[in-house]
Amino acid sequence: SRDEKIAIIGSGLIGRSWAMLFASVGYKVCIYDILSEQIDSALKEILVQLKKLEESGLLRGKISAVEQHKLITGCTDFKECVAGAKHVQECVPESIELKRKVFEQLDAVADDKMVLCSSTSTMPASSFTEHLTHRAQCIVAHPTNPPFYCPLTELVPSPWTYPHVTKNTREILEEIGQSVVLLNKEKFGFALNRLQWGMMSEIWRLVQDGTISVEDVDKVMSDGLGMRYAFMGPLETAYLNADGWKSYSERYADTIFNVAQDFGPTPRMEGETLEIVHNDLASRIPLDKLNERRAWRDARLAGLAKLKKEM
Ligand code: NAD
Repeated sequence: SRDEKIAIIGSGLIGRSWAMLFASVGYKVCIYDILSEQIDSALKEILVQLKKLEESGLLRGKISAVEQHKLITGCTDFKECVAGAKHVQECVPESIELKRKVFEQLDAVADDKMVLCSSTSTMPASSFTEHLTHRAQCIVAHPTNPPFYCPLTELVPSPWTYPHVTKNTREILEEIGQSVVLLNKEKFGFALNRLQWGMMSEIWRLVQDGTISVEDVDKVMSDGLGMRYAFMGPLETAYLNADGWKSYSERYADTIFNVAQDFGPTPRMEGETLEIVHNDLASRIPLDKLNERRAWRDARLAGLAKLKKEM
């Protein structure tokens, strides 16, 4: 194991995942949370998860689950957690006020080398780091949930992030097995959520006007588009579906333009359609059965991740 330290701020769902990923290649990981009971439950839950991954042959890295777990410690003192870390991964809830507050706290204790990295799903680093002394060391690395099975991480530097911070962050993410994409400019929602929410808006319109049922529109993804896109993206898929993009454009560009013009206004996910969507799902997956269904999902994602690795 190496002698370098990673600090994790916020030990919820995403903080736990990052801790496991960094420990997988031998980093010493220290996790902090404002709630000490969250740290305790994180340490326990991480051991359970690591052992499960080991059993299913999906544990990353070359050292055992128990050895990886030993590399992860908890700390109830913010300053102590961050001290000496080469990389700090912030994982507090998605609120701009909270991001500002935690980055101010980090700014006050950071040295000139530390990378201060946020897990935010949507907010450009420039929206919460502008006034900081160490703002050039700040960057966003947005993982995809659940990170152990979905390796994509969006790397989003701000206009004032040092180029070497971007480079070093990419290197450490690739070292722990993440698949990294770089955004050349900041945009609210980055790429993943912009795509996801563009699709979600059209799903909403189709359900709202009664074109398709809740169950069937989900099936369009799980048995159709989702399967297609598990191994290659939409651009390459289209390229292969015709004889290259020029031919795809000749055949479909007019049709796609006309359909896209027919999309209609941006819907808000509320009101009558919200009732329909929620009640339909709740009749099949009651709210007190979410954990069973999450476990079902994770087992299948694990299988898919394994398949992708082996093929
Ligand atoms: P979570 O609610 O599971 O965990 C947040 C943790 O932060 C909690 O343990 C909480 O006690 C702690 N916390 C709150 N205030 C704090 C503070 N001031 N200092 C230290 N700890 C504090 O949230 P999550 O799902 O892990 O999300 C964390 C971040 O990761 C968010 O920005 C989120 O958008 C992003 N993210 C989430 C997902 C996802 O699918 N859940 C995916 C990618 C990125």
